Amino acid sequence: MPKEILEMPIETATMELPDTKTIRLKWPDGHNPDFKTGQFITVYWPDTPAYKRAYSLSSCALDRGFYEVTVKRDGKMGTRIVDWAKAGDKLFVIPPVGKFLPVYEPDKHLVCIAGGSGVTPFRGFAREATRRKLETKITVLYSIRTPADIIFHNEFRELEKENPNFKFHVTCTRALPEHNWTGRAARITSDWVKEIATDLPNTVFYACGPNALVEFAEHLVIHELGVAKEQMKTEKWG
Ligand SMILES: Cc1cc2nc3c(=O)[nH]c(=O)nc-3n(C[C@H](O)[C@H](O)[C@H](O)COP(=O)(O)OP(=O)(O)OC[C@H]3O[C@@H](n4cnc5c(N)ncnc54)[C@H](O)[C@@H]3O)c2cc1C
Repeated sequence: MPKEILEMPIETATMELPDTKTIRLKWPDGHNPDFKTGQFITVYWPDTPAYKRAYSLSSCALDRGFYEVTVKRDGKMGTRIVDWAKAGDKLFVIPPVGKFLPVYEPDKHLVCIAGGSGVTPFRGFAREATRRKLETKITVLYSIRTPADIIFHNEFRELEKENPNFKFHVTCTRALPEHNWTGRAARITSDWVKEIATDLPNTVFYACGPNALVEFAEHLVIHELGVAKEQMKTEKWG
């Protein structure tokens, strides 16, 4: 049976950064869908039903009663959501689909490469693993321009404290002296990934976000590190 498209009100709209907003879409009463962490929903506004856009879930499958997506101000839909979407507005939601799924096996290490807003599904990965107290290791390698661009910084640090198997590593490519950034300050390199992924046969790589970032990560993992394609999952946003 085809999954039902439902109209959902925005319960909360939270600015994460000046150009990035999380909207929480409330499920109707009695709705209890089966979906997986890492999938994406497709949304459209009631006044423009032909204009549909996909958004990765930044919440996880254990979060019930709502979906959360985290959107950057970019293009028509991205700008409309970030600049205009507010609590009480309604969006139509096509149910979650997608194969960008965390492999939650105890001996696996998930190395998640992200740039900018591409980090959002990894919040879901880390949340579910932490709540379920899983042994699966998850490491996020997050490249952003300056420390002010880190999305969900506090939550990722909290998850790190709660979950000994989760690590959140940030590199800032354009930090200025006034940012007082003392961490890593270079692009993601194969040497850095090798330091993190010490057991390549048991590592699953993930990369998500704008095509350029995902293609960069694919090149690094598959061509520079020689990892088999089957060990990498990607989600290209366009
Ligand atoms: C599976 C999937 C998951 C996704 N998840 C997320 C997510 O979690 N968060 C998120 O923020 N996005 C996500 N996206 C991207 C999202 O679907 C939208 O594409 C994005 O919000 C931009 O909105 P738009 O497509 O209406 O932009 P459009 O208006 O169609 O523009 C597309 C691109 O072209 C550029 N552009 C438009 N006009 C011009 C012009 N005149 N000159 C130069 N450049 C121009 C825009 O800046 C934009 O980058 C995802 C995409 C996919 C496929």
